[in-house]
Amino acid sequence: MLTDAPARKNRSGFLESDRIKTLDLPPNGDLLKIAQRLECAMKADKIRDVRSACTAFLATASHFYEVPTCGVRVLAARPLRTHEHGTFELFGDYTPDSMLIRVWMRTAVRKEVTSFGTFVSTLCHEFCHHLDFQKFGFPDSWHTRGFYERAAALYHQARGTPLKKLFWVPTTGGRWRIDWQRTNRSG
Ligand SMILES: [Zn+2]
Repeated sequence: MLTDAPARKNRSGFLESDRIKTLDLPPNGDLLKIAQRLECAMKADKIRDVRSACTAFLATASHFYEVPTCGVRVLAARPLRTHEHGTFELFGDYTPDSMLIRVWMRTAVRKEVTSFGTFVSTLCHEFCHHLDFQKFGFPDSWHTRGFYERAAALYHQARGTPLKKLFWVPTTGGRWRIDWQRTNRSG
């Protein structure tokens, strides 16, 4: 995971996004139950059940954070070209104007099935973009350290796994990347 370079525009919003490293979380069990339903649906390759579990997941989370519910489209395969605020993401995207999340179950080129963990992680990631606009009121949604920390908190809540402390190392251009060796060692 690599953060975006610091924004030139809306710098204070960027810094605030970077700073907010925690997220209130829905009561234990709410998202976990839906995530388990989602896992069964994925294993059975039932896309309709995957869709309804994703819808329930996002409705439950949106209700908890008191934000409008975002829409979700679950696609069988990744579109060949995708853009998210001009950035390229492998497994999903979010469009702020329509408040729509798209996630896909297969990668574009090799048609490999996205793993359940990756799928849930993507759902949480895209939902955190939704929160950036609707809950935090940021003018944009950047991949800051804080963003990844918030997405990780939501992900671990949804999977019922303990939250790991993330260790960051600076790289070029004011970006940060996760030091996985240190992060995994501490967990
Ligand atoms: Zn993103």
